[in-house]
Order: sequence, then structure tokens, then C-alpha cells
Amino acid sequence: MKIAFAKISSSAYPFKLNFDNISFEGELKRLESRLVCVEGLLKGFAYKLCDSCGQELELELNEKTQILASDGIYKDNPKELADVIEFFDGQIDLMEIALNEFESYMSDYFYCEKCKLI
Ligand SMILES: [Zn+2]
Repeated sequence: MKIAFAKISSSAYPFKLNFDNISFEGELKRLESRLVCVEGLLKGFAYKLCDSCGQELELELNEKTQILASDGIYKDNPKELADVIEFFDGQIDLMEIALNEFESYMSDYFYCEKCKLI
């Protein structure tokens, strides 16, 4: 799902997309001429093996995310703490953002109930 930067104004532009058992829903808002804020909620279920014993876990996602999408190279404001993703075709690729967020969530360690107690 791609949305042109030109379409986004300072009023919220809602979006929703799905992949696997996950939905990513939120809104886009223009902050500066070449910067759009993507606020979303990653929700759903994913499966992963316990990082200690290997038992399969069902993870329930409910992750708020805030990403800045830059129209071209982002060079201003190095103090800004939010993650910035640069797009070079004038469009915000929401699926790419969703998958990035999902992957960074999944790259954490997860433990099953038994291993959590140790
Ligand atoms: Zn375990």
C-alpha cells in the first residue's frame, strides 16, 4: 500500500492494511514540507519459538509505533528521536513500514511461561 506524499496534509489521513494475522492501522500527518508522521498500531497474532526451550509461542501484538517518513534524504534535526524512513519515489510505502516494525518487534527475545519463571 503506497500513498503519495503530495496527498498528505496537516489533517490526519487514515490508513489500514493487513498481512498474515496482523493489521496495521493508523494515520498519516504532514509535519514539514518533506516529512510525514506515521502513527500506527500493529495488532494481531504471530508465532515464534521460545528463545530458551524452543516451544512455539503465540504472541499477541498490540504495538504502538511512530515513524517519520521522509520524502527524499532526511538531513534535518538530528536530535529527533523518532525513527525516520526515507522514500525516494514520492510515495510512502506503508507495507514496508509495517513489515519493518513487525520485524523489529520479532527480533526481540521471547520466552514461554515456563522459561519466564527461571
Ligand atoms: Zn521456553
